Amino acid sequence: MWEYAPAPESRDIANLKPNYRMFVDGQFVEGGGEPLKTVNPGTEEVLAEVSTASTADVDKAVKAARRAYDRVWGKMPGAERAKYIFRIARLVQERARELAVLESLDNGKPIKESRDVDVPTAAAHFFYHAGWADKLGYAGLGPDPRPLGVAGQVIPWNFPLLMAAWKIAPALACGNTVVLKPAETTPLSALVLAEIIQQADLPPGVVNILPGAGDVGAAVVNHPDVDKVAFTGSTEVGKVIQRQLAGTGKKLTLELGGKAANIVFDDAPLDQAVEGIVNGIFFNQGHVCCAGSRLLVQESVAEELLEKLRVRVSTLRVGDPLDKNTDIGAINSREQLAKIQELTASGEAEGAQRWTSACPLPDKGFYFAPTVFSNVSQAMRIAREEIFGPVLSVLTFRTPDEAVAKANNTPYGLSAGIWTEKGSRILWAAQKMRAGVVWANTFNRFDPTAPFGGYQESGFGREGGRTGLEAYLDV
Ligand code: NAD
Repeated sequence: MWEYAPAPESRDIANLKPNYRMFVDGQFVEGGGEPLKTVNPGTEEVLAEVSTASTADVDKAVKAARRAYDRVWGKMPGAERAKYIFRIARLVQERARELAVLESLDNGKPIKESRDVDVPTAAAHFFYHAGWADKLGYAGLGPDPRPLGVAGQVIPWNFPLLMAAWKIAPALACGNTVVLKPAETTPLSALVLAEIIQQADLPPGVVNILPGAGDVGAAVVNHPDVDKVAFTGSTEVGKVIQRQLAGTGKKLTLELGGKAANIVFDDAPLDQAVEGIVNGIFFNQGHVCCAGSRLLVQESVAEELLEKLRVRVSTLRVGDPLDKNTDIGAINSREQLAKIQELTASGEAEGAQRWTSACPLPDKGFYFAPTVFSNVSQAMRIAREEIFGPVLSVLTFRTPDEAVAKANNTPYGLSAGIWTEKGSRILWAAQKMRAGVVWANTFNRFDPTAPFGGYQESGFGREGGRTGLEAYLDV
């Protein structure tokens, strides 16, 4: 029985069904695992019931992927593969509205982000990789790069469709077949992507999508017939997978957590920087691995910048993810909300100064008002741990050397931002920073042509760009 039904219009646009099944060997089938209920975090109500995979289902999916690889996909000319991948890209565009509404319902992100970022960027990823499929010999990776075989892929809940596109598109372009497990709180858009894959007429078994919890992810990555593992998620689980795969010979890429520094120098255009800081930490409720969660501001402009920032953050609207005016939607789950509350409480207990926007929050649903901590020291948990929520920790510095030293004082290394008028300083700081991406006078920009990935405990391997192909090829 429904504990809730979303407004009829959004349900219609999202083409929401009461039940979703997993996608194996070209068919939607019931899984042997315990079905899960996926919840709308904006209202706390159940959206749909989703079938999950058992260990036997994982085995079936890997076998289907192996057959598809051996018989069809692994030997198909690149130009033929490209046609299928282009078709997927076009269908994502055609079904953009449905996907955007569904993503906001299942994830909680504001519709303007799912509509303008997640869905178009997912389509762009398929277009970009379709273009590579027949040019792999020209990618500078050697004369005859070969696919690896079956790719086992596990993704998180913060960009459910986009992460699926980041994983599936390069794997297919390079001639691999796929078994993908979406996150347990956000399985729906990946299953609509499965419909699109079926609609695009991909040979059965080329892509298999298995919802479920961590145990299903573990069964996928540890399956002996999986050749390559691509994981995006927490550093904690990434480390477990790395240990489990040691000695198996499987190729592994890990895209893990982050605690990015966004550095504002005293010559930066402050109003522009404020926009970048807001985008850096409040985009997608701060559920972003590369979020600019540590603001490092030069002491001489700190007060002025903080004042401007508070004024700007006060204007952000928190609320219904489907409202086009919403800036910050719902936190993805009760667990994530509790984690954010626990870490912000630790910030106060450790002596940081908390400022929270007075914006009203809906009565139901998982919401958290944008929060800025000042007087933060490097030793505090809010300066060291990934909060993965709309919470900014502000630290100050006096010299460029100190800024870079503080930026690098983290076990992570996924991204960073620099705000300054001086081009030479951008180049200097970008070279000194241990971060996979350094944005200058902007933040959170993504493009399929640019490789993305981390240093240190943010993982290894790159996704996107020519470099991203290396993860799916033997040379
Ligand atoms: P998570 O590690 O808890 O879960 C990620 C996925 O792994 C889920 O699908 C989960 O079911 C699965 N999983 C859990 N245990 C597993 C196991 N033992 N073996 C295999 N799979 C398992 O992370 P999350 O909370 O879903 O996502 C948030 C994290 O993801 C954050 O740390 C964030 O920084 C990170 N992230 C990183 C990137 C990146 O590109 N670096 C992008 C997005 C998110």
